[in-house]
Amino acid sequence: RVKQSGGNDTVFYSSEMDEEYRFKRQLSSNLRQAMENDTLEVHYQPQCHADSHEIMAFEALLRWNDPQMGNIPPSRFIPVAEETGLINQVGEWVLRKACQEAASWRKPLGIGVNLSAVQLQDLELPNLVRRIVEQSGLEPKRLELEVTETALIHNPARSMKILSDIKKLGVRIAMDDFGTGYSSLATLQNFPVDRIKIDQSFIAKLIGNDQAVAIVRAVINLSHDLNLSVIAEGVETDDQARFLTDNDCNEVQGYKYGYPRPINEYWHVVHPNSNDQDIAADLAKSAN
Ligand code: C2E
Ligand code: MG
Ligand code: MG
Ligand code: MG
Repeated sequence: RVKQSGGNDTVFYSSEMDEEYRFKRQLSSNLRQAMENDTLEVHYQPQCHADSHEIMAFEALLRWNDPQMGNIPPSRFIPVAEETGLINQVGEWVLRKACQEAASWRKPLGIGVNLSAVQLQDLELPNLVRRIVEQSGLEPKRLELEVTETALIHNPARSMKILSDIKKLGVRIAMDDFGTGYSSLATLQNFPVDRIKIDQSFIAKLIGNDQAVAIVRAVINLSHDLNLSVIAEGVETDDQARFLTDNDCNEVQGYKYGYPRPINEYWHVVHPNSNDQDIAADLAKSAN
């Protein structure tokens, strides 16, 4: 890293910015290519009933293995796709893919799909969602779109209009990463959400941390008082799981219950009683 001091400020040589710029340009051109070649992938992570561990739904998570650049996590390419506007195509692609996939399941489980802040600025989004749901044949109530608080506050009036139009379709809305934004409570009061996803950072700190314990309990109670369902993200350990069931969290999601995987690894979950009972039993065990 080459830096240059000018008074109290640190000035970066433009070569570093060039490098970042070139990287982003290559990334977005490769991402565009990946969509055209249909080489983006969707992995599916179970969302389970907290008491029975029964799988109720799956969250769709994008995966990208670029032939040149290797595995690139969504935390890296989504922000670039947002900057370049490519996110609208990516978002449409993943929504269509996930809805088609879920519509093909024998068992009518739920399907969660993440929305970007950029998509939540597009007044045409409800129409797009309606078209995709209709074309896929998915029952609208099985679809849950995950939005973050931060995505809503940029233009609250417009986001509000978009969310309420989506809800009129019968599609559900979840508040993702709850508790990490600047005005979580105000957002809850103002936006029509169906459930809260407690951010994984609180769950990670839960055991032995009084603050995290108090916050998670309060969010669970708040959800119940508001008649919202509540799910905890990032559940990895038995202790975390026990705390969450003891405190009446409705659902849980995390490596303890299942990793995000290609759907064929959960085939017997979505096609129960289909043929191979033994594989079904094995899958159920490994998901627990
Ligand atoms: P998110 O929606 O909050 O998704 C949860 C993230 O936590 C996922 O990371 C998931 O793999 C990870 N995770 C699940 N269980 C555990 C656990 O027990 N421990 C830990 N440490 N992590 C766990 P991933 O797949 O890398 O995605 C990161 C973020 O990228 C997502 O956060 C979401 O904001 C975004 N993203 C992923 N797919 C899409 C997409 O299709 N569209 C949009 N707009 N954003 C997406
Ligand atoms: Mg999510
Ligand atoms: Mg989250
Ligand atoms: Mg997140």
